[in-house]
Amino acid sequence: MNLAVLGAQWGDEGKGKIVDLLTPHFEIVARYQGGHNAGHTVYVNGRKFVLHLIPSGILHDGVMCVIGNGLVIDLRALFTEVDDLARMGIDVDGRLAVSEKAHLILPYHRELDVLSEARRGERKIGTTSRGIGPAYEDKIARRGIRAGDLADPQALEHGVRENVNARNRLVQETTMDWRAVLDQLLTDGERLKPWIRDVSLMLSEAMRQGQTILFEGAQGTLLDIDHGTYPYVTSSNASIGGVCTGLGVGPRMIGAVLGVAKAYTTRVGEGPLPTELTGEMGKRLRDSGNEYGAVTGRPRRCGWYDAVAIRYSVRINGLDALALTKLDVLDGLERIDICTAYRVGGQTLTELPSDVSRLSQCEPLYESMPGWSSPTKGLRRFADLPDAARRYVARLEDVSGIPAAIISTGSDRTETILRHDVLADCRLPDFQDA
Ligand code: GDP
Repeated sequence: MNLAVLGAQWGDEGKGKIVDLLTPHFEIVARYQGGHNAGHTVYVNGRKFVLHLIPSGILHDGVMCVIGNGLVIDLRALFTEVDDLARMGIDVDGRLAVSEKAHLILPYHRELDVLSEARRGERKIGTTSRGIGPAYEDKIARRGIRAGDLADPQALEHGVRENVNARNRLVQETTMDWRAVLDQLLTDGERLKPWIRDVSLMLSEAMRQGQTILFEGAQGTLLDIDHGTYPYVTSSNASIGGVCTGLGVGPRMIGAVLGVAKAYTTRVGEGPLPTELTGEMGKRLRDSGNEYGAVTGRPRRCGWYDAVAIRYSVRINGLDALALTKLDVLDGLERIDICTAYRVGGQTLTELPSDVSRLSQCEPLYESMPGWSSPTKGLRRFADLPDAARRYVARLEDVSGIPAAIISTGSDRTETILRHDVLADCRLPDFQDA
């Protein structure tokens, strides 16, 4: 059975670890959206790997890794990642497929990203300034350059010339030479060529042969371009629909959907975060959770678990179950709050409002639960969790409306509770312990 694993909150939920843990049960890991703004941190045998573009499945021998058409690719970033992996003894050749329809991030996209953030002033989005938004803008405006175009020098020249000239009209302080951009692309195209594939066809043939696919999301549902807290969102569909459009697979191929959520909430960048804790408790969560962006190093905003946001995520994605991460970060807290509803303008809301300014005015309504003093860090059996931690998880399941089939108690693969009974109840594969 194929499985989609995606972020149920505002990103950084620990998808990298969960994907890495489940990868041995699949032949293919396929990313469907985003760019190198994703930053999956995975620890294997004490070694730290940060992957931005290539699925973390690459750390497992024999697993095919796919970069779908829904991504935008910075070839410099891709090649750096390939070279870094090679230095660690991991060869991607024969195991990496890049969709011919994926759009490329070019030097002018990076520039335009910085410029448009500067122009927004107070209303900035807090992007990673990697050219991802502008590359998606070109895609929608139907002037983007796709990986497959590198094989057609004439069309490529036309596209690059037009786009660089447009950039030069916009940015008058400096002039970019379209020939230099083209030459670099032609050189890069040679290196990319062996990995270029018709990804939709490749996946369909693999499935016909009985192979299974893990669809890997980046960012999170609340950052989805359509369903997130617009305009404080990423430029792609991080939620489930992105799997179909970003890889060219039909919805029935998805199988099951696992939402990854922290046992609390974080958000990086601007935009509403109803349960945000700005005082000592926010700092406590940030420090014990090491909540600093893998890409930018920016401190993440931290708050209590927001069940309104999770229920929304359950609905948008049709989640079957949660993988609840970072439970250990709550170790030692006297009390833990759970947001079950919002209060705004004298009304109680149990559903997430679509309007971002209304969401910004929402006050969280909390339930308070006792914490636990003995550590959960590294525990591997649900029964071994302190009573209060089990009660906390059970309450999160109640207020979220779905079970937590996997609970993560540390950053290592082995620091995980796989609840085999819950996996079976949710019709999920019975993953073995690491
Ligand atoms: P992703 O983009 O969703 O993969 O998330 P990140 O990699 O940005 O952030 C997750 C961070 O939390 C990484 O540094 C992980 O190693 C770490 N992590 C994942 N699960 C756990 C956990 O259960 N406990 C702790 N303490 N850290 C975790």
